[in-house]
Amino acid sequence: MYFAFVSGNPALDLAGTVVSRRSDPIDALATPADLERWVARCDELPDLVAVDSAAFESALALREALYRLALDRVRGRPFGRGDLEIVNAAAAGPLPTVELSDAGLRISGDLVAALSHIARSGIALLADPHARVKECGRADCTRIYLDRSRGARRTWCGMDECGNRVKAAAYRTRRRTAAVEELR
Ligand SMILES: [Zn+2]
Repeated sequence: MYFAFVSGNPALDLAGTVVSRRSDPIDALATPADLERWVARCDELPDLVAVDSAAFESALALREALYRLALDRVRGRPFGRGDLEIVNAAAAGPLPTVELSDAGLRISGDLVAALSHIARSGIALLADPHARVKECGRADCTRIYLDRSRGARRTWCGMDECGNRVKAAAYRTRRRTAAVEELR
């Protein structure tokens, strides 16, 4: 399964492991092994965590709470109390250990620590009134991202994920329209 890290924040990237949430949801984290791979791929998290089925369920609960809070933020409405409790509880856990060496940065810790980092990152983002948190402009996508572009003009979660698809579809529509007009 393909993982996208395009949201500009690990909490939003985790929430974005389900796409097309309103029409035909596709979940990239179907099994605990998927979550192990996702954590290993995320730059801010340990490379190696073990995920059992109970830990997997709690990670998915955190993911859904983060998604709903991010959507509350996009829609400009109050945060859901139950979601706040889930995210705040996860953030209270121990954090991953970071070590510097000549080889660079090494991050270690278990899944609880990884989820704690994600929850804190999400809290810092959603608490920031200046952060431009947006939903992807492709109607079916539903991925939420942090727009850090100049002038805040970013429209898509990612060019490869959605921007190019929308542009290609618009191009096909223009071609079809032009072809129809030629027949007139
Ligand atoms: Zn998108």
